Amino acid sequence: LFAGQSEFLKGVVAMSGLPAADRMEVCFAGRSNVGKSTLINALTGTKALARASNTPGRTQEINYFTQGPDLYLVDLPGYGYANAPLSVVEKWQRLLKQYLGGRSTLRRAFVLVDARHGVKAVDEEIMGLLDRSAVTFQCVLTKVDKVKEKDLDRVLDQVRRALGRHPAAYPELVLTSSEKGDGIATLRSIIATLE
Ligand code: GDP
Repeated sequence: LFAGQSEFLKGVVAMSGLPAADRMEVCFAGRSNVGKSTLINALTGTKALARASNTPGRTQEINYFTQGPDLYLVDLPGYGYANAPLSVVEKWQRLLKQYLGGRSTLRRAFVLVDARHGVKAVDEEIMGLLDRSAVTFQCVLTKVDKVKEKDLDRVLDQVRRALGRHPAAYPELVLTSSEKGDGIATLRSIIATLE
């Protein structure tokens, strides 16, 4: 599945801009700076692919990447920008709601959570939206290399407790370090087994 080339397809700002729903897709959500671009790059084995989504003007778009002929990887806008104007926040929340509620080919959402910080209030918000949209989501911990083992247990407890409050949460956590490559193969195989 991941042997195929990955390419940036387009940035979407309205539902009318979505590509045809002709293949399955998975999406990635997370607070800005959680390591989403780095993870997508690691997943696809490219160095600069998801950088496109971090360039100014691209951050509020839903970014589509092709992964071979049968899969889209969808990079959702990062949330939790302290300085974003309300009008911008409302605009992307509306788009996000429409997307999550209306995309028939969306098989799973991956909610990225920084392993140093655990689940924050803004993560809970997106998880609540996923519950209401009935989109199964799985939590991916990022930057695990930055956390000492004894601290990781505490974070894992906190994350598991948070997920327990969300009916759409898939219980299995994926621990990743894009830096070290940990968990990347696991995540690939999880995606590969989705139908
Ligand atoms: P995004 O805003 O969610 O797309 O975040 P980025 O992918 O741009 O990453 C934010 C910062 O975290 C960058 O400085 C990355 O180098 C760093 N980072 C991302 N993933 C990891 C990781 O697995 N380990 C470490 N140590 N740093 C990471």
